[in-house]
Amino acid sequence: EQDVLEYRKSLAIRVSGFDVPKPVKTFEDCGFASQIMSAIKKQGYEKPTSIQCQALPVVLSGRDIIGIAKTGSGKTAAFVLPMIVHIMDQPELQKEEGPIGVICAPTRELAHQIYLEAKKFAKAYGIRVSAVYGGMSKLEQFKELKAGCEIVVATPGRLIDMLKMKALTMLRATYLVLDEADRMFDLGFEPQVRSIVGQIRPDRQTLLFSATMPRKVEKLAREILSDPTRVTVGEVG
Ligand code: ADP
Ligand code: MG
Repeated sequence: EQDVLEYRKSLAIRVSGFDVPKPVKTFEDCGFASQIMSAIKKQGYEKPTSIQCQALPVVLSGRDIIGIAKTGSGKTAAFVLPMIVHIMDQPELQKEEGPIGVICAPTRELAHQIYLEAKKFAKAYGIRVSAVYGGMSKLEQFKELKAGCEIVVATPGRLIDMLKMKALTMLRATYLVLDEADRMFDLGFEPQVRSIVGQIRPDRQTLLFSATMPRKVEKLAREILSDPTRVTVGEVG
């Protein structure tokens, strides 16, 4: 117990919530399959960053999370790695029924970075990742989504467009990530984010990451997360 408190302190992490799992020290502690471990090694990640040490066991246990940490702290892997595990845990991949993991990010650059990171870990399992954001042909995107995927990385506006065009359904979606929630709100995406969340079954796992927690984001978190664990790294939040 005291050790866990000391270890969290050394990571500059604060947590709140119910029955929070103890932070890991290594990626091996996460119990990842060998394909994921090789992909981690290939990325050159030797050990988890502070947010990853605490967020990985929380998310792997199936809980909702609010992760507050500044840019560059390694939040992407904290939601991408457990997403791969979540997808592989599904009983049968019925490929035509739309994504299992849905990630929303504020800009196409951020969505693209997440897309690339997700692809690195998804590849070994044949998990299909689709990127959905502006600046790409809607028709091409429509066709790609129609062909099926397990993960969608999207900006909110374009994802709404694709949902309206019935390029995909959210019937299979059980893992939702809102990345850089504060920036999505700054850019005026709150209605689109709320609409997307409203189309995903309530028994999903929901992850919200943000560098700051303005009141509006806090309110959304209260409304859409179930008993979340809150992990704050450093002085932010
Ligand atoms: P954030 O989303 O918090 O801004 P990113 O997920 O984009 O941070 O990660 C920032 C950088 O750190 C990226 O270049 C990423 O590849 C690298 N990174 C992430 N996790 C690790 C790790 N465990 N070890 C080393 N580098 C890492
Ligand atoms: Mg990020």
